Amino acid sequence: MPTPLESLWKFKFQFGNAQGQATSIFSKKGSFDGEQLTLDQRTYAVSDIAAIERRQKLVVMAVAADNQLHTLILVFGSQKLSQEFKERLDVARSGFWARQHRADLEKRGQVQDYRDAACPNCQATIILSHMPASPQLYCPFCETLMTLNDNGQSPANERVFRLCDDCGLFSQPQKYTIMYIWFIVVAYGWSMREKWCCRTCIRKEAWKMFWGNLLFVLGLPFAVIQLFRAYSGDWLGGSFRGLDTGNARIIKGDAAAALPYYRAILERVPYAAGVKYNLAKGLLHQDEPGHAAKMLEAALHDCTNYAPAATLLRHLYQELGEQQKLKELDAIWSIAEQQTEDLDVEETSVSDE
Ligand SMILES: [Zn+2]
Ligand SMILES: [Zn+2]
Repeated sequence: MPTPLESLWKFKFQFGNAQGQATSIFSKKGSFDGEQLTLDQRTYAVSDIAAIERRQKLVVMAVAADNQLHTLILVFGSQKLSQEFKERLDVARSGFWARQHRADLEKRGQVQDYRDAACPNCQATIILSHMPASPQLYCPFCETLMTLNDNGQSPANERVFRLCDDCGLFSQPQKYTIMYIWFIVVAYGWSMREKWCCRTCIRKEAWKMFWGNLLFVLGLPFAVIQLFRAYSGDWLGGSFRGLDTGNARIIKGDAAAALPYYRAILERVPYAAGVKYNLAKGLLHQDEPGHAAKMLEAALHDCTNYAPAATLLRHLYQELGEQQKLKELDAIWSIAEQQTEDLDVEETSVSDE
């Protein structure tokens, strides 16, 4: 269990709009004491925070207030601050849910079934009751997939991999800046935006930027750097090298061409639920739901609580009419459902904005 945060933590923030831009000129004051979060005039109990997502300096939250779920968008002064905000809240709310869940089991005389783990990456409490032990652990709060007690066998960079916002594949999403500069006789202009996605998804954009800037050479070095970032990671990816190329084949719909790249990674990496998840998606593209289900079972064998694999597998069991397996999967996941359900709620809420 994480240690409670005793002192009052104060911070500054701005409210933002759906485009992630600050809507107030001046900063607002906020504070968090480990149980109550105050944002300007309003205070929320930690139990009212259903979900928190962070991208760079931006935090999107789903909070329950007045019997409704509301989406709050907050803009912080730095990435460090937005990260600290999310981590402090995640530690507190995951601890709250774990205590609730333990009390529920106690009431039912099943407290011996209680099991949790502290995320080595963000310190949130992950509920693992009724789940068999596995070599990997998934944190639904920071979305990190980690190998535990691996004696140095797992790749050093494995914690940077997660699902890409754009393609939904296990990859290495990061921030890319897309910039175009143009000169037209006396007028000049530029346009810039940021994108959070994997290297495969940025490749198309980086080539567009390269050609777009080619005519007006000023932006060209910038485009070349982004192109290099989009491609070099796959060559330098260590044990995960080839992942981007495999993912690119899937995105193009050529799943058969992707499989050798994934299989090569699985020969190098002892446990890799994320790569098996991608492989399952490839098999689905090839219209092989039975094999895809087997691959997802293997992913859950590597990481018992890998929620993306369990969600897809549940869907496949329904499609394949595997009632017994569906029942067994649901029995395991009903315990940890609160964490997963809250993430679903958040997705719906944010997309409604
Ligand atoms: Zn975590
Ligand atoms: Zn992607």
